[in-house]
Amino acid sequence: MSSIAAKKVPDAFGHFGRYGGRYVPETLMHPLQQLEDEYARAQQDPEFQRDYDYYLKEFCGRPTPLYFAERLTRELGGAKIYLKREDLLHTGAHKINNCVGQILLAKRMGKTRIIAETGAGQHGVATATVAAMFGFECVVYMGAVDCERQELNVFRMKMLGAEVVPVKAGQQTLKEAINEAMRDWVTNVRTTHYILGTAYGAHPYPLMVRNFQRVIGDEARQQILEKEKRLPDLLVACVGGGSNALGLFYPFIEDESVRMVGVEAGGKGIRAGKHAARFQGGSLGVLQGTRSYLLQDKSGQIQLTHSISAGLDYAAVGPEHAWLRDQKRVDYTYATDKHALEAFMKLARLEGIIPALESAHAIAEVIVRAPKLGKDCLVIINLSGRGDKDVSQVATKLNL
Ligand SMILES: *Cc1c(COP(=O)(O)O)cnc(C)c1O
Repeated sequence: MSSIAAKKVPDAFGHFGRYGGRYVPETLMHPLQQLEDEYARAQQDPEFQRDYDYYLKEFCGRPTPLYFAERLTRELGGAKIYLKREDLLHTGAHKINNCVGQILLAKRMGKTRIIAETGAGQHGVATATVAAMFGFECVVYMGAVDCERQELNVFRMKMLGAEVVPVKAGQQTLKEAINEAMRDWVTNVRTTHYILGTAYGAHPYPLMVRNFQRVIGDEARQQILEKEKRLPDLLVACVGGGSNALGLFYPFIEDESVRMVGVEAGGKGIRAGKHAARFQGGSLGVLQGTRSYLLQDKSGQIQLTHSISAGLDYAAVGPEHAWLRDQKRVDYTYATDKHALEAFMKLARLEGIIPALESAHAIAEVIVRAPKLGKDCLVIINLSGRGDKDVSQVATKLNL
């Protein structure tokens, strides 16, 4: 896709075409500029890169395998399916890749305190983990409803020494948690770095988080070339804010032959308030620092969202995804709760791998597509996390 390569995004102000940017209160303009400058310096600093690589390898367990899902492939009877095993990382999801990068930046900036927001709790756990490892004070904001449905992760964060603040405003999920984290940051910005968990928010976060996650795609590219001596035909990943998908997709973006599909949360079906598929019925708007596709009503009020998976349950999508969709470089679809649950069980039974409910959305899409593809077709699914955090919820749903 040479047209994509020619268009350098984001621009100096963090715009991906008409998306992105920096829509924050005046008090946050300066710290965001500082962060942008420090990040630019870190990118030029071999020592920073060395530290980042060191902790990814020695602490997180990279590289993760690119695993041939032999029984799933046989069962579906079409394309050859590989799983990028981010579920095997320390703390159980891709989130830690970004947290390692950002805590190293926080250290460079002389900060002593870390804050974060979390939905499913995976980002909160990853943040609490790197904060413990580097000796930072850590506060994690989490919607009260999410605290309940992801209780195990709340305990993990507390054990790691983080303070978990349940947020009781509004829908009591991720959006409200982000509001609280931003409020905290405004107040404590001198000592505090905000580790945002996905490719979302004000510039430079979408760019920076994507770059800290691109290690997924860089590894996958090398691994598939080793195993198959050629590039894959299709990449599939779930899209919450969009970081695991961008992490896998980005290093392939200029390879025209590689198709990409992002899978959003279809919840109970595409009706207002019942899903979190921003590209199905969403529209352009500004939320929490950036301009992107949102689920909003006619007067711009943010709509309620629903997904079985807390990590995909958010009213907006990262700006780079909105841009990639406009460029027709990535296709976006959705999987419903029901199909995600079926995919969850299928992977467990066929491959001995219990996926995160988020990742199960990507598997659900491949269950639909793979049988229609030829046996010579190569598919990579980003298995963004493991399902330990979801087992009690699934057991209840399925009456196990
Ligand atoms: C948080 C999370 C997601 C969704 O976030 P993205 O930024 O879209 O990747 C997906 N999978 C897992 C396992 C997660 O923890």
